[in-house]
Amino acid sequence: MEKSTDIECPKFLLLPMQPTPNGRLHLGHLSGPYLNCDVLGRLLKRSGAEVTTICGADVYENWVIPPADAAKLEVGDFCTKSSDQIESDLAAFNISIDTWINPLSVEHTTGYNDANNELLRRGQKSGSLILKEEKVPYNISSGKLVSGVWLIGRCPGCGESASGNCCESCGYHYQPDEILDPKERHSDSELEWKFFKSWFTKPDGCHDISLQIRDLCQQRSFCDLGINYAKQKGQEIRLTSPEAWGIPNTVDGFGTTVSNTFYGYCYYCAEVYAQTFNCENPLSQASSNVRVIAFAGIDNLVAAIVAPLAISGAVGTRPFDTVNLNKFLTLDGQKFSTSRKHGVWLSELIELELVHPDEVRLYIASISNPEFEVDFNLKKFVEFINVHRRTLKQRINTIAATEYKSNHTSCYRCKFDCDFSIAKFSLESVFANYWKFVTSDPTEHCRGSWASTFLHQSEALMPILGPEIYQLVQAGGSPDQSVVGHKLLLNDLRTVIHHGC
Ligand SMILES: [Zn+2]
Repeated sequence: MEKSTDIECPKFLLLPMQPTPNGRLHLGHLSGPYLNCDVLGRLLKRSGAEVTTICGADVYENWVIPPADAAKLEVGDFCTKSSDQIESDLAAFNISIDTWINPLSVEHTTGYNDANNELLRRGQKSGSLILKEEKVPYNISSGKLVSGVWLIGRCPGCGESASGNCCESCGYHYQPDEILDPKERHSDSELEWKFFKSWFTKPDGCHDISLQIRDLCQQRSFCDLGINYAKQKGQEIRLTSPEAWGIPNTVDGFGTTVSNTFYGYCYYCAEVYAQTFNCENPLSQASSNVRVIAFAGIDNLVAAIVAPLAISGAVGTRPFDTVNLNKFLTLDGQKFSTSRKHGVWLSELIELELVHPDEVRLYIASISNPEFEVDFNLKKFVEFINVHRRTLKQRINTIAATEYKSNHTSCYRCKFDCDFSIAKFSLESVFANYWKFVTSDPTEHCRGSWASTFLHQSEALMPILGPEIYQLVQAGGSPDQSVVGHKLLLNDLRTVIHHGC
């Protein structure tokens, strides 16, 4: 424990969206919650904060079932294998994660299931949940429910083709009986309807969450989508489900499983934080001094901003302090997709050993725009990497050559911009600062000050390369022996592009 005389430094718990372990991570994943979370975490640490990042696999998402079947593995075994691979993909791109949670592991199963059941129990006790009968499509010949991954049709919000319970085009979140033209994936069987009772948060809630949404998320257009959803759907969030694959409902029989909500996952992550630091769960105590920041893509807009407010309000816990959302990266105009095999996979980029993972991070930051879809283009990627390598080489050579002509003993030109605000954080602004510095005239600086400013501007984006280049410049080295790299050829990288169906 800290002494009362110490100035307490701000504490942050960062929680990026739980990736679905239905395959390895692609560039679309990296460009969203994970890079945003990592860069913000590094900037917060540099400003003196204590930062902890916890993440884990979304093993109870039923999108894991088709690839597990295809791999002829038990669903749990498949999830654990994919969870391990995702953890190493993130590590390979220097995404710093303090604790990785596989909810199916011996270490976490009981705690994970208990935390999610505890939220359900608390909600029932406080009388702020409703038991609602709903109809779910059902395949007469197989006798199975058709929901989640198996249910396809059109989005009731925008009419685009959709599946599961969330539209990837407009972010609309729907229940099985709302999807238009419902069909079963890979089947022409006729669908019937079956009736089940499940728990939901009360539709009108005890309070209007519109104002809270504005506080939670700085990105206006995303807030508006969340507020519209809450107005239309009345803050009704599913807490149990008749689906078989999920967290066993140990509270009652209304729902075979407890829904694996993003908030429930975060609540368990916060529990792990509490055990690690011997403190209260930061999401259970209104008085917690730990700020909780969640990160998600637009496909999880409802899960990340509406549901957490509705659930925490209903069960008497605390919502997040901030949510950082992003739109998708696309590949040739189409969304990256694990199930459709459309994208660029991180493990393949790494295996080629032609591009440093930090250069990939830098490029993603350079094209990042949180509110618009951005397209990944291999030619532009290669051009960017080559321009950056060339620029670095020139700068390092110039510094090495001009060092002793300079009379500087210390340089006052480089005043670090320490004005750092979470609300204004964006990858594009972090990149813009770096690029402005690295393309400016290096002879305005002495060697030491160029090196330390370079380190300051690059480290959050390039946590390995930044310090390596700093060391090289400090030692007066030339870039030939460095990590800067040779000219990259487009053809050498073509194999990483996969165009799915
Ligand atoms: Zn839609």
